[in-house]
Amino acid sequence: MGSPDVAVVGGGIVGCALAAFLAEGGARVTLYEREALAAGASGRNSGIVQHPMDEVLAPLFHETVAHYRDLAAFGFALPDSPAGLLVLSPDERLIEEELALIGDGFPELAIERLAPGEPHRLEPVVAPGLAGVRMETGYAVPPAEATRAFWRRAEAAGARLVLEPAGADVAADQVVVAAGPWTPGIADPSGAWRPIEPLWGVNAEIHLPEPPRHAVEEAGIDALLAEGAAGGGLFSLVTAQGVSSLGSTFLPEEPDAAARAPRLKERGARFVPALAGAPIVSVRACARPRSADGRPLLGRRGDLVIAAGHGAWGISLGPASARLVADLVLGREPAIPAAFDPARFG
Ligand SMILES: Cc1cc2nc3c(=O)[nH]c(=O)nc-3n(C[C@H](O)[C@H](O)[C@H](O)COP(=O)(O)OP(=O)(O)OC[C@H]3O[C@@H](n4cnc5c(N)ncnc54)[C@H](O)[C@@H]3O)c2cc1C
Repeated sequence: MGSPDVAVVGGGIVGCALAAFLAEGGARVTLYEREALAAGASGRNSGIVQHPMDEVLAPLFHETVAHYRDLAAFGFALPDSPAGLLVLSPDERLIEEELALIGDGFPELAIERLAPGEPHRLEPVVAPGLAGVRMETGYAVPPAEATRAFWRRAEAAGARLVLEPAGADVAADQVVVAAGPWTPGIADPSGAWRPIEPLWGVNAEIHLPEPPRHAVEEAGIDALLAEGAAGGGLFSLVTAQGVSSLGSTFLPEEPDAAARAPRLKERGARFVPALAGAPIVSVRACARPRSADGRPLLGRRGDLVIAAGHGAWGISLGPASARLVADLVLGREPAIPAAFDPARFG
């Protein structure tokens, strides 16, 4: 058989999109996945394609939306327009902090400040008395579908799937490591290079007869992720094609997902009271590949190419990152912003 031109390690959203772009660009591609396609966060996330509210990351989001439109031919349907995102809090100060962090640099978000009680008028399933912000973003999608559709596209272009673990020494002219939070362990088994750490989340699939139309989440993510914070939980609720995903936790160690589920419900019911009586259908845990500065690592490191570290934003940004990395591997004009260079971490 000889060596494949390009080996991609990891069958998540980034690896599957890479396999598609590389194969369409003429490379002979083998994708190595140790478990199953979308076995990691790419199959277990909350399912929202959302603006990252970071000017360096925003272009990746806009390009990703365009890639998802192109996936229609492979069975993936991005909603025509965003559902809208409601960020809620009983504490108006947290809403002010959220607004200050976002700034006024994103007119496309059409940010609306909502006084206490307004979120309830806009979305009656939301508890009365909460303050909030509404933003024009948030395409709700079933968690694993984009990844699977990218794989179908890759396969149609000739990519090959090998369901076994691979390391940096896998036979190929070029090796791209797109293994989410496991990427540093593959790139540097010595353990010295660890710019990406897992940040574990638990999500429950829950049955709500009348789910909110918006994606809904609790304000306060920055305080929770601040340096030195022990991690914890913040409410979020996303409904795609009638299936609601209730989240989530932000924890450094893998949690007992089933044990966390009642706490997710209890916290969620403060924001959407109907959650208290809603049956949980299933619970899942997965790890966000969180980089030390919140931005992905895209580019060469020694003999390897790295494509990982999207943290909480991989479904929203991963396909555009994959396109940038595919262009690098294919020898096209490199256009990867310096902010994503893996060398910033040594
Ligand atoms: C609870 C939760 C909710 C989230 N919600 C959202 C959301 O709503 N919107 C959003 O944009 N993002 C969300 N995210 C983030 C998003 O899911 C991730 O950023 C994204 O899925 C990461 O994709 P990836 O391809 O880099 O990694 P992964 O999905 O982790 O894929 C890596 C793959 O590599 C494989 N692998 C590992 N080691 C090897 C090896 N040695 N050989 C072969 N294969 C290997 C793994 O099995 C895995 O399948 C969420 C994350 C969590 C945890």
